[in-house]
Order: sequence, then structure tokens, then C-alpha cells
Amino acid sequence: MHRDLIDGVPVLWAEAPGPLEAALVFGCGVSDETFRTLGVTHLVEHLAMSTLPRLHYDHNASVTLSLTEFTASGRPEQVTDFLARVCEALSSLPLDRIEREAGVLAAEGSGATDPTSAELLSFRYGTQGAGLASWDGPGPDRIPVEAVRDTAARYFHSGNAVLVLTGPPPAGLRLPLPAGERPDRGTAQPVLQPGPLWFQAEVPGPGLALRGDLDDAALILAHAVLQERLRKLVRHQEGLTYDIDGSRRYAGPGQDDFFVRLDAREGQERRVAELLWQESLRLAREGVTEAELAEELAALREAWLDPRATSAELGEAAASSLFGVEYQDAQARLNALAKTTPEQARQAFAAALGTALLVVPGETEVELLQPDGAALPFGSGRSEHELPSQGLVCKPSLSDRLLSSAARRARLAVTAEGVWIRDGDGEVIHVPFDEVVGVETDGPGRVVFGRRNCVVPVVPELFANLGPAIAAIDAAVPEALRYPVSGLRVTD
Ligand SMILES: [Zn+2]
Repeated sequence: MHRDLIDGVPVLWAEAPGPLEAALVFGCGVSDETFRTLGVTHLVEHLAMSTLPRLHYDHNASVTLSLTEFTASGRPEQVTDFLARVCEALSSLPLDRIEREAGVLAAEGSGATDPTSAELLSFRYGTQGAGLASWDGPGPDRIPVEAVRDTAARYFHSGNAVLVLTGPPPAGLRLPLPAGERPDRGTAQPVLQPGPLWFQAEVPGPGLALRGDLDDAALILAHAVLQERLRKLVRHQEGLTYDIDGSRRYAGPGQDDFFVRLDAREGQERRVAELLWQESLRLAREGVTEAELAEELAALREAWLDPRATSAELGEAAASSLFGVEYQDAQARLNALAKTTPEQARQAFAAALGTALLVVPGETEVELLQPDGAALPFGSGRSEHELPSQGLVCKPSLSDRLLSSAARRARLAVTAEGVWIRDGDGEVIHVPFDEVVGVETDGPGRVVFGRRNCVVPVVPELFANLGPAIAAIDAAVPEALRYPVSGLRVTD
């Protein structure tokens, strides 16, 4: 791998077959946004791409949880032209096109990651950082223009970019970006109990999330063995699943996220979740065999050393550089994997299983055990609360209370400290004002969003005489966090 520096941007390149491929990668993504500005990185990307004329070569752009990239492949002069245009656009974004591009984003929909991982991340991290993955936020038309300017200035500059190329940099290649300092991106901390537990969400099939170190060779192999065992058992033996998939993502030094996802034939969600958990427990208890480790090592060697993997490998190196972690080439990673013993793989997996989150679709119910034999707890995603004894209290209207026992139990309370809601089942949700990430205004009502995945509807459909409560909420929440409901939302 060769290293150059062009206009202050590190350039990583290696020869690969086929036309020249380029990826200009920036160290920012959805996990750098807030609930209030959710989608702003994607909007910046669209504004930049909207300046391009029709181009007769492959080009694209994308935003993931942690990276944004602009890609092109073609003749060297085409790649040179594309990169110069993108850099110029990022240096002076066409802010007058925000409204149009917001509409385009609404049509495109979000999807920085798959829906199962998104729900697992939101459960783990709350309504912040990578936890934003499953949220829509206020909507693309509610992203403030200052947030677009701030995001461009903070992240889209030569100090936060790496260019990768599958050949030498063409003569005349320029990357005219503003200069800047590498931003401090922080790392999201989990907001809830670490696990192990199970929970329900709108996911296409069961999924498992573990925390661990992306550099832990033993955990990487154990994670791969688990997927292969599930493929054999749940797909080939039982015929319950088509797709079994695993992934890893960088989340911070030594505390990254590992995922396993399965789809499930309709009506088999419970069985697939049970098998996923059962195989996880068995791996932690009985470990893996030498043959299984050798098999996974052979598969990874084939994938990583394939000449067609050159641009993916360059992408790994670029990501490491932007995350500020050391890059190990494919051979060094394979060497570390080859030293792993079955017992190390078992131990690494058993330790990670202590952080397990198991998500099941919709209303699926499971009864599972932890490694020590205790029941695997159900995670509601919320802490236990009681209504405060003081403060403003609102009830449903008299007619609602006469008609429904749920309405007789429901309460809303607002104090100087925050808001509480007790629903018809008696469950209390609380959002302290210092954890508010957004307040949506919809006519006379408000919807309060908290950092721990909590949503409190302060709306006249549920409660009567809300005036004083709404005045108290508006007074306590900074104006920058309040916004009118999106005009792009489709209500049914
Ligand atoms: Zn897009």
C-alpha cells in the first residue's frame, strides 16, 4: 500500500485490476449527529452531489453510521474531474437547494444500517450516537440550515478526509477542500443495563448484539463459527431461515459492536430466536473445535487476500486512519487469527455473551436462560419510575375517564425537573429536562423525546387542560430543541 499527500489529504493506493476506483472518505456519519439534526450528513452529501452534471461513468455517495464517502470509477481523467467537483461543492454548498434535497431524502428513506442492527444499537445507546440508527428524527425538512453549515465546516475538510485509489494518483489530481482539524468525535456510552437480556422491536427477524474488541482475534473467530453453526442448523437442517448474516462495527477503543442477524419464516420467529440463543449458550459453554477455527480462518484468508478485495482493504485502512486506530494489513490480521486456540475463542465469546442483547420481532415471546441457569430478563428499555407527588398534573378528559379504566389511570405530570407519563397499564415513563433531545410541536400538542429512547406524548387527544403543562415544557426546553412537526410526514 502506497501513501501520498495531496492538498493535505492522505492518499492510500494500491494497484488492482479493472478501471481506476476512487473513494473520498470523510470521518463522519449518522453517529456524529444529534436527534435534532438527524440526517444532516446525508443532506450535506446530497447537496454536494446535486451540483454534479450528468456524468457518464460510475459514481455515487453514501453515509453510514460512522463514515461518508464519495466514490467514482472510470478513466483517470474522469476520476480526477469527479473528485475536484465534489471537493469544490463541499467547499461551498448550494444551501438554496436544501428544501428540494430534503424532499429527496424523504423519498429515499433512511438506512445507515440494516433494521435489526439499528434496533439493537438504539436499545444499547439510546437516542444518541449510533443509537440514532433506528430513529427518523424531526424529518429532513426540519434540519436547520445552521446545522448544515456547521456539519460541513466541522467534518468535510482535508483534516478529516482520506482518499483511496486502486492505482497511482493521476497527474493533475487536486482535492481542493478547506483545511481543518480532525474533530473529536467522542464515543457513545450505553444508556441502559449492559445485558444479557431480550427485547421486542419491529425487526424482520431475530438478532444478537455483543460488545467486544474489533482487534480480538478470538472473538472474531467465535463470532464467525456461531454464524456457520446457525447456517447449518437453522437453515440447512431446520429450514426456518434463508439469510444469516454477521457484522462488526467500530464504536470506541475495545468496546465495539458485533451483530448476528437471521430472517425467519413467518410463524417461526420464536423458534429461530430460541435456536440463536441456544447456539450462543452452547458456544460459550462447550467452545469450538480446531477444525471449525481452521475452516473460518481459510474463509477469511480467501476473502481478504483476493485481488478483488483491494479496494475494500484500502477502505479498511482509510477507516482506521479516520478513527485514529492502528491499521493492520490482511496478512497481520490472519497471523493473529491463526494463533487463536479453541479455548481462547470460547472464553472471548463467553465474556462477550455477558453483554448480549437479543431482539425478537414484534410480539414474539421467548423464555430463555442465562449461562448460570437464571431466566434471561426481558428488557422493556425503560427504568422504573413513579409519578412525582408535586407539580402540574393532567388527566384525560372527564368523558374519557368515564368510558375507560385505562383513561382513569393515565396521568401526565410536569415539574421543574422533567415530565412523567403514566399509561393505562400503570407504567410510568420519565424524561428529565436535561435528557430531552427534541420536542415536536404539533398544533396545541407536544411530543417530548428523551435520550433513553423515551417518548412522552403531551397531546390533547390523551389529556385535558394541557395549557400550563405545555407552557412549562416550552419554558424548560431550549428553543433549539423544539421544532414543528415535519411537513413531509405521511399520516394515515
Ligand atoms: Zn441519499
